[in-house]
Amino acid sequence: MNWISNYVRPKINSLFSRREIPENLWTKCDACGTMLFHRELDENQQVCTNCGNHMQIAPRARFDALFDGGTYVEVPVEAPKPDPLHFRDQKKYPDRLRAAQRATGEKEAMLVAEGEIGRTPIIAAAQDFSFMGGSMGMYVGNAILAAAARAVETRRPLVLFSAAGGARMQEGILSLMQMPRTTVAVEMLKEAGLPYIVVLTHPTTGGVTASYAMLGDVQIAEPGALICFAGPRVIEQTIREKLPEGFQRAEYLLEHGMLDRVTDRRALRDELVTILRMMLSLPPAIHGELPPPAPETHAAPDEARPVPVDEP
Ligand SMILES: [Zn+2]
Repeated sequence: MNWISNYVRPKINSLFSRREIPENLWTKCDACGTMLFHRELDENQQVCTNCGNHMQIAPRARFDALFDGGTYVEVPVEAPKPDPLHFRDQKKYPDRLRAAQRATGEKEAMLVAEGEIGRTPIIAAAQDFSFMGGSMGMYVGNAILAAAARAVETRRPLVLFSAAGGARMQEGILSLMQMPRTTVAVEMLKEAGLPYIVVLTHPTTGGVTASYAMLGDVQIAEPGALICFAGPRVIEQTIREKLPEGFQRAEYLLEHGMLDRVTDRRALRDELVTILRMMLSLPPAIHGELPPPAPETHAAPDEARPVPVDEP
């Protein structure tokens, strides 16, 4: 025994520990179990390169891929009163918030930005599932209102990416009030005649599907996304029946007339450009390489600048 425990085991352990790699470099696909290298996954917008499983993507990474040249300007969102109910479960609500802020590097569960996609100016809002399950609290309500107000002000369409476990229970009735509030925000867009497009991502559930996430002029979903009010487990337990396969998934909802499209994340940008330009009565986007913008000649005298030509 001595020889095994004193010599063989340490030798084996050292062999394995030497090969240890930092865990965060690799992500395991939930669907097919393939280990995916983080850089490869980032380049593929968090879509499994083996099976096409769509994993969650942070709003910033999404905006980097969405906007032309990855450039956008954040739209400011008013911060609500913190912890209005002095809520506490196992942890205090402010502690939970701080932990989520540290883990994600974001202020809250929604990011609003303005920029151009395919040279089409838009406002975009994206919900962050990694921030307390993307739960809809007062901040998310404020974010949607800010997005809608900015869209109306700049006469731009709004594209919203939803991802949420529902309302934020730590804010009680105040989070539920965000359902009518965000519905009013969507109404502002409709009154202004501006397109509102929703992209439902995995998972979009609860009060979010009972308000702004289902009010789009065009409803797109990412493949395999769970979209529901009450989840399949709850329904199964209530009605005591087996649910059909793929129930409440994007493809099932498309088949049953609840969605307009199910689109792969990697093709989403082009599709959004096409739909938006059609809705805005703009000519189709130019595909391929655009000529680079003329370099700015700060030092050049006025005569060197080209004479502006009148538009026909
Ligand atoms: Zn996979």
